[in-house]
Amino acid sequence: MGETKYIFVTGGVASSLGKGIISSSIGKLLQARGYKVTIQKFDPYINIDPGTLNPYEHGECYVTVDGHEADLDLGHYERFLGIETTKVNNITTGRIYKSVIDKERRGDYLGKTIQVIPHITDEIKRNVKMLGSKYKFDFVITEIGGTVGDIESLPYLESIRQLKWELGNRALCVHLTYVPFLAAAQELKTKPTQHSVKELQSLGVQPDVLVLRSEHHLNDNLRKKVALFCNVEEEAVVQSVDVSTIYQVPLKMQEQGLDETILRKMGLPVGERPPLGPWKDFLNRRANATEEVKIALVGKYVELQDAYKSILEALSQAATYNDCKLKIEYVQSEHLTTENVAEKLRDVDGVVICPGFGSRGIEGKFVAARYTRENNIPTFGICLGMQCMAIEFARNVLGYSGANSIEMDEKTPHNVIDIMEEQKAITNMGGTMRLGAYECVVNENSKTFEAYGRQHIQERHRHRYEFNNAYKEQYENAGMKCVGINPESDLVEIVEVPGHKWYIGTQFHPEYNSTVLAPHPLFLDFIKAAISN
Ligand code: GLN
Repeated sequence: MGETKYIFVTGGVASSLGKGIISSSIGKLLQARGYKVTIQKFDPYINIDPGTLNPYEHGECYVTVDGHEADLDLGHYERFLGIETTKVNNITTGRIYKSVIDKERRGDYLGKTIQVIPHITDEIKRNVKMLGSKYKFDFVITEIGGTVGDIESLPYLESIRQLKWELGNRALCVHLTYVPFLAAAQELKTKPTQHSVKELQSLGVQPDVLVLRSEHHLNDNLRKKVALFCNVEEEAVVQSVDVSTIYQVPLKMQEQGLDETILRKMGLPVGERPPLGPWKDFLNRRANATEEVKIALVGKYVELQDAYKSILEALSQAATYNDCKLKIEYVQSEHLTTENVAEKLRDVDGVVICPGFGSRGIEGKFVAARYTRENNIPTFGICLGMQCMAIEFARNVLGYSGANSIEMDEKTPHNVIDIMEEQKAITNMGGTMRLGAYECVVNENSKTFEAYGRQHIQERHRHRYEFNNAYKEQYENAGMKCVGINPESDLVEIVEVPGHKWYIGTQFHPEYNSTVLAPHPLFLDFIKAAISN
């Protein structure tokens, strides 16, 4: 295509409008036209990455194949585009400053005074342009976290201003705003959008495209009015009204010609509208599913819808490919006891024991693991969930009542989950877990193998503790098999109870690898087992 084009996605009026979904949808539409596209997220906070952030602050921490702990929007990028992102796809203010300060300490700036402009903005621009120059993408979509008007966003917006000046029509700004509906007046209000665009203009950035989020349809007059007040072409004002699934958004954007407007503005040929066949098939299947599959999520962050984002998406994709609607039953593990577990899990078709850290709610996870094991209910344990399956098995089958993970009880007499050797000397918390994709060899005599249909798999990890191999033989003799092993470290990656309808625990996080057009085999198989339960 020639030189890389850069699309910046900013947000105004309020947060949580879905910049990640709009960025992913634009990416999807351009990719469907044959372009090589990537999406990058800049987060204006000071943390180096979200790895040390509590899920209450930031939702799920996503993990890339190269072991970067990343913003959950990267999950959307991967699920929509089917691409792999890496650490260059997610940059925070903390990383920008760290890199500039490291250069300053090395003496790279030759005695200059280091300032936000040009040093911080240059570092931001370098991280944007690197995706074009080094990785040769046709389109780099850069989503700016936060909302226009935030102090922290200023260096990013200044960088966009400079890049737009420098790159001409090779750079474009899509601004996402919110159009509220005032019930008392029965009116949609565009003033917040006008103010937000004004704020952007005051920083020297003229948006080229406006995407208006709203709960109600916006008529042509309203879009015309916004266009007039904001110096944006009428055609380039599109609406994004609430839809039943985020996966409809690319189609809604395509209907309004958003990709065509972008191509035209960037001087590229518009050509035919791509049919998006497989994507539409997925949506049709989802819409036509009638039966329901009910899955319980046992975890301590169940009141937070973003904490288990990738698990929810992987489950819902798998449900669609099994022609079912997914119903999630959130079960707070802190409140789960031997007395109430039967009542809470009685009428679910399957149970996921969620990942996590620390001991809050841990006993409830053991209770769930025992109940589903003894009652033959399909169960999927992920990371800490897998460790809970192993601990419960040690306590109630191997007869080691004090068995635990060293993470929860340093003095446990049976450390069936132990700290990994290489973790022992680590004192820094950030970016020091076992992170990213590692190989695993699957035993051919297992349900897991049947699900994957292959022996060699690569999955992503995020943990410090591991299954203690000293107990492996006892587990296997008593009926919990270690069916997935890392060939280099011998680490147990998958446990399974044969004969059970579906009782599989994975040390890795398969949910990071499930996309709309390539759902994950383990989730597909788990949902299938849950349906036939
Ligand atoms: N806390 C566990 C560990 O560090 C599990 C981590 C997780 O569930 N992601 O090993």
